[in-house]
Amino acid sequence: MRTPLVAANWKMNGSREFAEGFFTALDLEDSGAEVVICPPFPYLSLVADRVANRAIALGAQNLSHEAAGAYTGEVSAAMLRDVETRYVIVGHSERRSLYGESSELVASKFVAAQESGLVPILCVGETLQEREEGWALDAIAAQLQAVLDRVVADDLKRAVVAYEPVWAIGTGRTATPEQAQEVHGFIRERLGSAGDAVRILYGGSVKSGNATALFSQADIDGALVGGASLDAEEFGKICRAAAQ
Ligand code: PEP
Repeated sequence: MRTPLVAANWKMNGSREFAEGFFTALDLEDSGAEVVICPPFPYLSLVADRVANRAIALGAQNLSHEAAGAYTGEVSAAMLRDVETRYVIVGHSERRSLYGESSELVASKFVAAQESGLVPILCVGETLQEREEGWALDAIAAQLQAVLDRVVADDLKRAVVAYEPVWAIGTGRTATPEQAQEVHGFIRERLGSAGDAVRILYGGSVKSGNATALFSQADIDGALVGGASLDAEEFGKICRAAAQ
């Protein structure tokens, strides 16, 4: 049995005041889901303090694949661990498309994260064009393969995968539960002997109104939530839906 996991990706949103208010308002009612909050870097320590006595883990949105040195503006895995971070998102589609991160670079980040004891949340997903032209699964397989080439099954078991169709991120357009299930089943198969142990999250305009139907699918183990994670009440509802 895989414990459901719901992760909040605040992206480049929020402030000190927002973070304080969020944790005051967030009511998880012992949801039973594992909850991860990924704030922007400057708020990691603040969020670490706020989640210290709660069943919430801290996550980062990105990291460097390098360990230390002359890499201005970058943040290493060890630094993230130093401020109590447990999870880190790698390969978010915004990093891939806006910052040119290749699947090979994403794989290096995945490895760097695990070497420092972080749990990577590896994002994969197809563009609208890839889906319409009928090669969504090939695109996802290629993104996954770059990581599979670098790690062994035991490493995969210490990771989380998020299926995030690019056309559904921040668009209000969600994959149907059946579309998402098809891809989740495919990803689990590609993960081989590690597949059963790995939590595979769905991401792409998840809201409390569509969460239950998505979570009812056999291979959907939770969600990576962008926009709706900025509303503590809405995010709490999604977390509770994941645990049902
Ligand atoms: C995301 O940023 O990973 C995401 C899924 O965003 P949204 O929920 O807003 O689509």
